[in-house]
Amino acid sequence: MSAVRAEIVVDLDAIEANVRHLASVAGPAAMMTVVKADGYGHGMVPVARAARRAGATWLGAAALEEALALREAGDTGRILTWLTVPGEDLTPGVRADLDLTAYSVEEVAQVRAAARAAGRPARLQLKVDTGLSRGGASRADWPQVVAAALEAQAADEVRLTGMWSHLACADDPDHPANAAQEEVFAWAVRVAEEAGARFEVRHLANSAAALVRPSARWDLVRCGIAAYGLSPDPALGTAADLGLRPAMTVRTHLAMVKPVAAGESVSYGHTWTAPRDTVLGLVPLGYGDGIPRHASSGPDGAGAPVWVNGHRVPVRGRICMDQFVVELGDPAHGGVAARPGDEVVLFGPGDRGEPSAQDWADVVGTIGYEIVTRMRGRQQRRYVGARVEEDTR
Ligand SMILES: *Cc1c(COP(=O)(O)O)cnc(C)c1O
Repeated sequence: MSAVRAEIVVDLDAIEANVRHLASVAGPAAMMTVVKADGYGHGMVPVARAARRAGATWLGAAALEEALALREAGDTGRILTWLTVPGEDLTPGVRADLDLTAYSVEEVAQVRAAARAAGRPARLQLKVDTGLSRGGASRADWPQVVAAALEAQAADEVRLTGMWSHLACADDPDHPANAAQEEVFAWAVRVAEEAGARFEVRHLANSAAALVRPSARWDLVRCGIAAYGLSPDPALGTAADLGLRPAMTVRTHLAMVKPVAAGESVSYGHTWTAPRDTVLGLVPLGYGDGIPRHASSGPDGAGAPVWVNGHRVPVRGRICMDQFVVELGDPAHGGVAARPGDEVVLFGPGDRGEPSAQDWADVVGTIGYEIVTRMRGRQQRRYVGARVEEDTR
């Protein structure tokens, strides 16, 4: 038994293998590993180092601060960022030689101002909205955004390095939006190139498209979730079907084990009542650590599964801020024999039969992305892998 209360174990070899696999599937398209949101909860800098080693010539981050933190950690490769806010000073991004993204004429102006302040041209990519209706230039605005960028380039304030878009339904390969968005993207490429733009990279694919949609790969694929070893959607296959290995394991130890009698109710609100004499285990993690409260037991009486001593046992009652309760059952009647201090695995790669992040997502009614990304709290993060010293120095 370790003295660590709870930990998130991140397997950097798995990340490296996943990135290599994705690069081989999507090649000759170049590989961007998306490390936003602290590397989907895995720790941005170690993930970035493992990804670089596996051939990610690009890293992707949503916010400028994320990309600047990568530079501070010593990363010298290409990094794209894509979510500027009005009034944000992009000068540090130009100085750090990041590839910035503009969605509008106003954002092109913001980048130009930063380039003047930095005394050097900014690397700039343009995003076109091909149908996600989130960020990016609308089709109507696209020609003006391209013109503004070309003007900035003529003034030697930007180097136009790429253009890109993002798919709404890539995890549903038969959805008609995929082909429709590809068509709009091809149109936007034509408009820009006919206006005189020459791009190093034109890109559209996230993990799902990189894996199953060759027509979306263009010059570069932007892979997040698959790099962490999760399937973008069960409809595409399991992680193993896709050649991926989940990198995150969340584990702790039973804080207490105790019997309750039939008729006793468990946790806040007494939403679960023991239908038999049974044994409960107390798990010292809760929503304060990112464990979703929606993993509490539902009307059928079973919450998310955890693994104890070779068996999966269910959450009973409500998940609390710091703790939750599982039913081990009475070992004399088929329950799991367990003692305080025994290991509890919430989810992991599945080698020992433990649940996956996808299993948790299914219970909670969300996606694996959210389960891994929200794991931040009092757990200690521990990295494993052959090159762990290099990756975490
Ligand atoms: C998060 C993100 C990705 C990665 O998506 P996955 O489905 O995790 O591969 C790619 N591109 C953009 C713009 C993103 O915001």
